[in-house]
Amino acid sequence: MNTNVENIEISGIRKFSNKVSQVEGALSLTLGQPDFKTPGFIKKAMIDSIENDKTTYTSNAGIVELRQEISNYLKTFNINFSTEDVCITVGGSEGLYAAFQGMLNPGDVILVPDPSYPAYKAIGTIIGANVIEYKLNKEFLIDIEDLKGKIKKFNPKAMVLSYPSNPTGAVMTKELRDNLYKILKDEKLYIITDEIYASVCYEDNYYSVCQYEDLVERCIYISGFSKMFSLTGLRIGYICCKNKLLNEIMKVHQYNVSCAPSVAQYGALKGLTHCLNDVEIMKEEFKKRRDFVYSRLKEIGFQVNMPKGAFYIFPKIPKENISSNDFCVDLLNKEKVACVPGSAFGTSGEGFMRISYCYSMEELKKALNHIEDYLRKN
Ligand code: PMP
Repeated sequence: MNTNVENIEISGIRKFSNKVSQVEGALSLTLGQPDFKTPGFIKKAMIDSIENDKTTYTSNAGIVELRQEISNYLKTFNINFSTEDVCITVGGSEGLYAAFQGMLNPGDVILVPDPSYPAYKAIGTIIGANVIEYKLNKEFLIDIEDLKGKIKKFNPKAMVLSYPSNPTGAVMTKELRDNLYKILKDEKLYIITDEIYASVCYEDNYYSVCQYEDLVERCIYISGFSKMFSLTGLRIGYICCKNKLLNEIMKVHQYNVSCAPSVAQYGALKGLTHCLNDVEIMKEEFKKRRDFVYSRLKEIGFQVNMPKGAFYIFPKIPKENISSNDFCVDLLNKEKVACVPGSAFGTSGEGFMRISYCYSMEELKKALNHIEDYLRKN
């Protein structure tokens, strides 16, 4: 076996959701899978693409119409990537993998946030990079002094930014973006910025380091349509970066998957041209649920930050001397509610749990009542 692979475990999120299936009648708040149907226009476009035999390989980078629409869409966030800077991938997941593999040599240092989406650390480990975690503050924004210290100490080749955040729901603020710019503009490191939840930001303005023209040259922007159009099983995402870098990343993509599924590409294209209103409707619904879950958690006595994006909330577990894993297992066994232990997202996630609010209001209400009962009884 490959020892790097042996050194990683399957994702704690999956591990936990597997446990849930063993508890009959359990209410699961574990998955990042929106509970909305894929918009009808997208389904229809995919059916049409099959009927018109658009089932062959596409170019490695993906169909040009979709790349063009992605370039246009990102402009609405003040992010400038041209059509040539876009490669369609098999979900954001493949985009992340290709970026890491295309850029890092074994032993190269990559900085990743702690806590964060577990794939960053896992992929880094698989390819033999030296993954160093950087700290977040109480708002789950970057601890700038810690980051500066780690850049100085480890001379990293790249760093990962991950806002809007899974698992915390934090988003990039203007202040953080500007502070990062000050630090990063004179450094050489590459910035892999995973903005897959950009379409689920509840704030009026959206901030990304890619908005700086002189940083964007070193940015690798990862995103996808799984969350945006509620089509996680279709496996369609994208990676954007300036051409020289993209050429290298594309080699990994080519030998790994050749191209993203053609049918899903036509679906995503229709989504960008016809379904942005559906995305707004989903976001409004998520916002209502966010407000509800936040206020219930506060009422029950949790310390918790108000999420500003994505569809997760990351409260502190209001019990001492119990690991987040043991707490979540006990909650599952006694009250049949499943939340993901914070430790699945890194050492600093210990003491927290992640609740996904990709579930109906009815399920959320029930689940929160059970969580309240659990805390009253235990
Ligand atoms: N990045 C983050 C932060 C995620 O939460 C996810 C999925 N949960 C992904 C990337 C990958 O998503 P996909 O491969 O479905 O596009």
